[in-house]
Amino acid sequence: MPSSRVSVQDNEERSCDASSQKKHWKLADFDIGRPLGRGKFGNVYLAREKKSKYIVALKVLFKKQLQGSYVEHQLRREIEIQSHLRHPNILRLYGYFYDENCVYLILEYAARGEVYKELQRQKVFNERRTATYIASLTNALIHCHEKHVIHRDIKPENLLLGFKGELKIADFGWSVHTFNKRKTMCGTLDYLPPEMVESKEHDAGVDIWSLGVLCYEFLYGRAPFEAPGHTDTYKRIIRIDLKFPAQPVVSHQAKDLISKLLVKDSAQRLPLKQVLLHPWIVANADPSGVYKD
Ligand code: ATP
Ligand code: MG
Repeated sequence: MPSSRVSVQDNEERSCDASSQKKHWKLADFDIGRPLGRGKFGNVYLAREKKSKYIVALKVLFKKQLQGSYVEHQLRREIEIQSHLRHPNILRLYGYFYDENCVYLILEYAARGEVYKELQRQKVFNERRTATYIASLTNALIHCHEKHVIHRDIKPENLLLGFKGELKIADFGWSVHTFNKRKTMCGTLDYLPPEMVESKEHDAGVDIWSLGVLCYEFLYGRAPFEAPGHTDTYKRIIRIDLKFPAQPVVSHQAKDLISKLLVKDSAQRLPLKQVLLHPWIVANADPSGVYKD
């Protein structure tokens, strides 16, 4: 196993961009390092492009497990969408290649791993950390929506942290390029907005809803409509059964923002640009996008 001693700082200073140098990648172009995580269809490894020494994350998907047209379709969509988005808070997809058995995605390496694991460690995030993440995510979603992409699967597991602790949206498997309202059912239950629970038409407002769910989960350590069974969760979402527990203590302003995002009518949810101007975000989010303890 090659050493992965090239620091990410060095990595950032390298002028080589894995995407611009060459179009036809192969596995032999990379030194493979430690596994970074396990996905549904394969594993993700730390890797280094041999020539440039550029550090990346290589997502290896087994073709056998991908068979079935829907998954293939989803993967194509993930590649197509993610490779065209360029934003500091969106994980870059530099390129892809395949061989007989696998498809490989060359991804930006997110050195500090999953937000989900960080939340599990800390139980809840404080208001400054939460606001910083929510503002970063809002900026990323503004960029997506301007490009007519809705992510549809925003949740802590799909958010990674870069070298400095900056938030990066990953996993565009459920995202969709759209000009029209969509009716497909997807995403994880806890984060589904009422219009998706009821299989109604939906639009970019679904991402605004999940921003509210996320903000709640960061501050309280659990999703707002959590219930013992699926049916109960559905019911709570449809009723917008939003309750703010007394503990942990959360500011009135934070609750105000959450209440303006978790609104039944998607057209009435606070527009993303106004999320950035909300007094709680203005007072708490670090403008650098990096939370410092
Ligand atoms: P699932 O849908 O079950 O989450 P998946 O097939 O979508 O799995 P990913 O979520 O992309 O797979 O990757 C699995 C795990 O690998 C992530 O949860 C994360 O811990 C790690 N990982 C993925 N990409 C990166 C990256 N670019 N940098 C660092 N770690 C990563
Ligand atoms: Mg994932």
